[in-house]
Amino acid sequence: MAIATINPATGETVKTFTELTEAEVRDRIGIAHDRWQTYRRTTFAERAALLHATADLLEKEADDVARMMTTEMGKTLASARAEALKSAKGMRYYADHAEEFLADEPLPDPSVVGASRALGRYQPLGVVLAVMPWNFPLWQVMRFAAPALMAGNVGLLKHASNVPQCALYLEDVFRRGGFEEGCFQTLLVSSRQVEPILRDARVAAATLTGSEPAGRSVAAICGDEVKHTVLELGGSDPFVVMPSADLDRAAETAVTARTQNNGQSCIAAKRFIVHTDVYDEFARKFVERMRALTVGDPFDDNTKVGPLATEQGRADVEELVDEAVSAGATVLCGGQRPDGRGWFYPPTVITDITREMRIFTEEVFGPVASLYRVTDLDEALEIANATSFGLGSNAWTEDAEEIERFIDDLDAGQVFINGMTVSYPELPFGGVKRSGYGRELSSHGIREFCNLKTVWVG
Ligand code: NDP
Repeated sequence: MAIATINPATGETVKTFTELTEAEVRDRIGIAHDRWQTYRRTTFAERAALLHATADLLEKEADDVARMMTTEMGKTLASARAEALKSAKGMRYYADHAEEFLADEPLPDPSVVGASRALGRYQPLGVVLAVMPWNFPLWQVMRFAAPALMAGNVGLLKHASNVPQCALYLEDVFRRGGFEEGCFQTLLVSSRQVEPILRDARVAAATLTGSEPAGRSVAAICGDEVKHTVLELGGSDPFVVMPSADLDRAAETAVTARTQNNGQSCIAAKRFIVHTDVYDEFARKFVERMRALTVGDPFDDNTKVGPLATEQGRADVEELVDEAVSAGATVLCGGQRPDGRGWFYPPTVITDITREMRIFTEEVFGPVASLYRVTDLDEALEIANATSFGLGSNAWTEDAEEIERFIDDLDAGQVFINGMTVSYPELPFGGVKRSGYGRELSSHGIREFCNLKTVWVG
């Protein structure tokens, strides 16, 4: 994929970029590694001051950077601005809490191990490569960069090829925030150049957010090199609605949960599993609201759903829907791409899905909701868990016993009851099964790229 800004609302190529050569990449790794020798010795207070200064800039520049995001990947301007501000908030969270999260963990009674002093100490690993996707071009990067930098690591970013301006902005804003050269660098490279970076002895670890094939490739190379990885891959999150649920709130939230970010979020609810007693009513409320969404120019304040980020992305969504319809599925709204330029796809609800259809098993990365009717809680759980993914999950019920069943039995990294899955700096974020491993955010995210060193003093 060429490194370029291509406006998904028009299909126009706005700007192209030249990829770094392999020699240039090696130089950048050298700069990172040299910088780490001094940066690792800075104090938490020094790092926090730099991160707060960077957050100040990001907040001040939120409007400009939002326009950049919308131009490069098509999210609505309002959501792009919100993402910039959320990223700044995430930076402040780690600036304020890193020291506490990485404090020494002393054994209360070291004599049990025959020591006068025994503890666990968190130390940085070194140069960490982040391979990041286009769907949240700032937030996905920040949830790696803020904890990594606060822990005393330095970062290299290989961002998705369709968001180069966002990628360059990130390097620039960290520099202007006061981080010295080499603390955080953007490498404008294609995915072909990822392997030599991972195999470079000066690179200690990697994190990837993106598709399963990309994750598998990075993890395989890092496995071969015995380097730590964190993977945040796709999801096909269930959204279960039981008879006691507040159906209006559930339907309203279902629409947001499915169409946020133009339907391109790993934690978007994708499969709506509804108890038969409330199925018809929920389906009516849900479809009405999905149909009412305004699709169009992401710069327009009235637009709720913009274009998909890439032409291929839209083709993939279209193919999944068309195949299902040919095999007998029913479209309740949407389902046809509009005429005209740009990679738009309408909010779509599809039902009568069978297990043989690809749409039953694959992640749909666009505003398409699959609707299932179930007769009881066990069947709801069975369908919810009948996926290779396990990222987020949602269940709607007022029944205390049902709530506990969903919390215990949904196979997912996250379960949200009577609300939609959201990433919060304060809560761990990650998946099970083919959604990946490791955790981002909270105290857990910052410890992923640390050496928890056991210290024993006789
Ligand atoms: P990719 O996984 O291809 O892209 C994500 C990042 O990984 C990009 O930086 C990409 O670089 C890089 N990458 C791709 N292949 C490799 C590889 N073999 N080795 C190293 N790095 C690689 O996602 P797509 O944009 O192609 O989207 C495809 C699907 O992935 C979506 O439909 C969705 O299912 C899933 N996805 C999930 C996301 C999530 O949030 N979990 C985010 C984005 C996508 P480059 O852009 O240069 O190819």
